[in-house]
Amino acid sequence: MEISEEEFKEIKEKLISYINNNFPEDKKSSSLDKLDSMNKEELVSFLEKNNILFEEEQCVFCLIGLKKIPSCILEEDEENLAVLDINPLSEGNSLIIPKSHGKVKESTLLLAQKIKGEIKNNLMPLEVKVEKQAMFNHELINLIPIYKDKELKKEKKSIEELEIIKEKILKKDNQEDLNKKEETLNNVEEQEAEEKNLWLPKRIP
Ligand SMILES: [Zn+2]
Repeated sequence: MEISEEEFKEIKEKLISYINNNFPEDKKSSSLDKLDSMNKEELVSFLEKNNILFEEEQCVFCLIGLKKIPSCILEEDEENLAVLDINPLSEGNSLIIPKSHGKVKESTLLLAQKIKGEIKNNLMPLEVKVEKQAMFNHELINLIPIYKDKELKKEKKSIEELEIIKEKILKKDNQEDLNKKEETLNNVEEQEAEEKNLWLPKRIP
């Protein structure tokens, strides 16, 4: 098994939280020390020896795609799910996840562009960073809004908090529709005005 630096970190984090939650108190610190001292190769051989899998069967993004893990869904198409990150780096930090394990698809990029536009219009960040990431070979797009005078910092949010951010995005969407309607109305009025002008009697100097 080959793992990337990112996966190495992620697996360590998972094991740390597993140890903290499941190990008896007196075993915790020695186990954590042991884990901490492992390099990548040692960790991989430890995982293999103990039959610990962090591949597709346990891929968190596959589980989100299958909706076995609840998430705050912004939008969905046949091949992808756009969700709000539960540990966002900033408000509106979103993940565009292909439902199937593997590479991002053309449709993933399209959905990412769409959500990026919505975040820009609705949450008014300075910019939205678009990053392709992979966790255990499951690629996804990470959209990270950057705000003025706010540093990026992971902060766990509850589903309720995420729902509020989601609503912000959807509400402004409606506002956009309203603006469009207004524009159309104005156009109609302008047209009518132009037509009226045509009927005005010509001035005779
Ligand atoms: Zn996966």
